[in-house]
Amino acid sequence: MINQLLGLPEHPGYIFLTITVGGLLLFFTLAGLSYRLFFLRSRFHPDYAPDDAGNRREVREAIKWSIISVLGNAALVAPIHYLLATGHGRLYTDVAEHGWPWLLLSPFAVLAVSETSIYWVHRGLHWGPLYRHVHDKHHAFKVPTPFVGLAFRPLDAFAQGIPHHILAFLLPIHIGIYLVSLFFVTLWAVMIHDRVSFVRWKGINFTGHHTLHHWYENYNFGQYFTVWDRLMGTYRDPEVAYDDLPEGIVVRAQDVLGRVAEGVGS
Ligand SMILES: [Zn+2]
Ligand SMILES: [Zn+2]
Repeated sequence: MINQLLGLPEHPGYIFLTITVGGLLLFFTLAGLSYRLFFLRSRFHPDYAPDDAGNRREVREAIKWSIISVLGNAALVAPIHYLLATGHGRLYTDVAEHGWPWLLLSPFAVLAVSETSIYWVHRGLHWGPLYRHVHDKHHAFKVPTPFVGLAFRPLDAFAQGIPHHILAFLLPIHIGIYLVSLFFVTLWAVMIHDRVSFVRWKGINFTGHHTLHHWYENYNFGQYFTVWDRLMGTYRDPEVAYDDLPEGIVVRAQDVLGRVAEGVGS
C-alpha cells in the first residue's frame, strides 16, 4: 500500500527496500538533528565530550546496531506489509469507508492497544533468557544518546514494533493514521533517548523516565505513557534525586532556556 502510493511494485523485495531506505533516512535525520542540537558542544549537555574516545565508540556502536536493526526488522516486517498491501489487513484509503467519527476515534484505539501490548512485550524482554539473547544490546547503553533510539537486535526491534503492525489486521486503520503512527514512534524513540526533557507531566513516558529505564533497567517499561508502570508498580519518578544517579544525566529544557534568557537579559 505504501509502495502503491510511491508508485513502486507491491513486491516483498521492493517493500523491504522501501522500509529500509525510509527507516534509515527518517531515523538518521531525526537522530542526527537531535545529536547536533543537544550534544555537540551544546548548552543542554555541557559536560558531554563528543570527541572523547569512549563517547565516539558508543555513538559508533549505537549507529551500527541501528543499521542492523532497521535492516533486520525490514526483512521480518516485509512479509507482513506484503499481506497488508495485498488486501489481507484492514488498512483503508477512503475516509468514507468508515466515516469521520471512526477516523478521529481510531488514533485513541491505536494508542490504547499499542501502549498495552508494548508495555507487556517490553516487560517480557526483560525476562532472563530473552533479556540476554534479545534485549541486551539496547541496554548496553547505560547513559543514552539519540542514536540509541533504534539500537536493537533485529528480533528486539521486531518484537517491539509488532503491535503496530498487528493492529492493522485487527482494526480498520486509515493509511494516513498508520503512517503518522510509524513516523511518531520513530520520533519518540529518538526523543526519549536525548535526555532533554521538555515535558514534566508524570503521565507521559518522557526522556526522564526512559533514562531511568536505562540506568535501573526494571522500571518505566511504557511507550508513550506511564499508566501501566503505575498500575503494575514498575514506575520510577525522574523528579526524585537518586543517590546513585549521576547528576545532570537528564536536563530540563526550561532550566537551560531560562539561563540562556537570563544571560541575554543581563
Ligand atoms: Zn528495556
Ligand atoms: Zn531505550
